[in-house]
Amino acid sequence: MIWADAIHKSYGRNDVLKGIDLEVAAGEVVCLIGPSGSGKSTFLRCMNHLETVDDGIMWVAGRVVGYEMKGDRLREQSYAQVCRSRTKIGMVFQHFNLFPHMTVLENIMEAPTVALRQKKSVVRERAMRLLEQVGLAEKAQHYPRQLSGGQQQRVAIARALCMEPSLMLFDEPTSALDPELVGEVLKVMKDLARTGMTMVVVTHEMNFAREMADRVVFMDGGVIVEEGPAAELITNPRHPRTKEFLASVL
Ligand code: ATP
Ligand code: MG
Repeated sequence: MIWADAIHKSYGRNDVLKGIDLEVAAGEVVCLIGPSGSGKSTFLRCMNHLETVDDGIMWVAGRVVGYEMKGDRLREQSYAQVCRSRTKIGMVFQHFNLFPHMTVLENIMEAPTVALRQKKSVVRERAMRLLEQVGLAEKAQHYPRQLSGGQQQRVAIARALCMEPSLMLFDEPTSALDPELVGEVLKVMKDLARTGMTMVVVTHEMNFAREMADRVVFMDGGVIVEEGPAAELITNPRHPRTKEFLASVL
């Protein structure tokens, strides 16, 4: 699903990604952990065409990402293909960014009906099914401000899923939430993982990582320092930097 080879990215003189190699298989759940500023969000944004990369190559959901659509290397790949492939990648951020003037149902239906021009009746049915899946069917006609942060984040997940993505990216989806609301969002993510969805999750929730991740990847200073099965990496890290980081978050 994801194949990244020697990804480099700088902002001016700040080398943020210094050669990242990563493979994620279909159906895998990978947690990305690491200290603030290590490049986790930047890497996720590269996966989702939100950033260009300076060097290296990355395929996500069957397409090359991270390049402007010019140059010989990518001539065969049209802009339209990029736009289509982007819809295969769902992303959920720390701040849910629901449209405040739209109901929950309208928020979920917006992208499939407008961007993909899918039939409203079909999308509505799917949206209601997804609201059921995230436990919010009865909130369909509410506005975002009438919901708790945890409920809004569950709507944001349903909204991403309504595009029928083949890959879901999460960037610290629970870190802006009050502690008592974290569990309901993690539960929705666990249910999703059990359906076989491919997921890359940037998180500080080590219990989630331990329970759900097939693999945990530790990033520091723009490189992958260590990766391995969740139980192994979290309980028995080998690299001193991983040990230090885990000691600070556990
Ligand atoms: P956090 O855990 O705090 O979210 P992170 O691992 O997600 O951190 P990034 O957000 O990827 O880290 O940032 C990595 C580095 O890149 C930081 O030094 C940051 O200041 C820099 N950076 C990120 N986005 C930009 C941008 N758009 N322009 C300039 N510098 C940026
Ligand atoms: Mg980040």
